[in-house]
Amino acid sequence: MARILAIHAHPDDIEFLAAGTLALLADTGNHDIVFSTLTSGDKGSHDLSAPEISALRRKEAASAAAVIGAQYLPGDFLDQEIFSDNASRHAVVELLRKTRPDIVLTASPVDYSPDHEATSLLVRDACFAAGSPNYKTDSPSIDGIPELYLMDPLGGIDRSGDLIDPDFIVDITDKIAVKRAMLEHHQSQRAWLKAHHHMDDYVNQMEIWSAERGKRIGVAFGEGFRRYRGHPFPQNFQLESFLADRLVKRA
Ligand SMILES: [Zn+2]
Repeated sequence: MARILAIHAHPDDIEFLAAGTLALLADTGNHDIVFSTLTSGDKGSHDLSAPEISALRRKEAASAAAVIGAQYLPGDFLDQEIFSDNASRHAVVELLRKTRPDIVLTASPVDYSPDHEATSLLVRDACFAAGSPNYKTDSPSIDGIPELYLMDPLGGIDRSGDLIDPDFIVDITDKIAVKRAMLEHHQSQRAWLKAHHHMDDYVNQMEIWSAERGKRIGVAFGEGFRRYRGHPFPQNFQLESFLADRLVKRA
């Protein structure tokens, strides 16, 4: 049994990139799974004020996580205002100490969104600092450093359009309906993504992307991840052992 924390920048990022894998892990019933987003997506509306859209998106994210029995923990960062600085590192360390994960899945350090990139950096550095007793926050330090995995960037590419290859792909074919149901809880984003991202139907876009990843390993739908390999993070690959029969290493 493990405590697994999926942490990204905005409500719906985790559902788009990792919900199928988290649904498979939830199926075993042996893991505590927490979804967290550093922001509540307070800029994700043309019509609602920041407090209104934040409250709505927190509800949507909690409902989406609840589909697989996971808890949702929102952070206090503002949308489009995530930066790696000392106060932000303290906040993310405290979030890690509250959830005390064995395994962390987070954003790609290279992505289209500066919030995603800053989240990745903050989570990486917080994983390191959270086990340091003299790094003071409200909660006590955790034991050691959690295992860290990186989700795909949007479209699996960096800012130059070069491919970011996953280390492994998880076959989520059995969970695509659950993933779709989870993403559909983020109804407030349908109009916003259409207007601002020119993304006509974000749920279908998710399926197209999951199919793209699945195709790489010869299945209908997949999700890709990279291991964080930096010193001195643990390289036990627990997550991969939990998913062994569903996982294919980089082809
Ligand atoms: Zn995002």
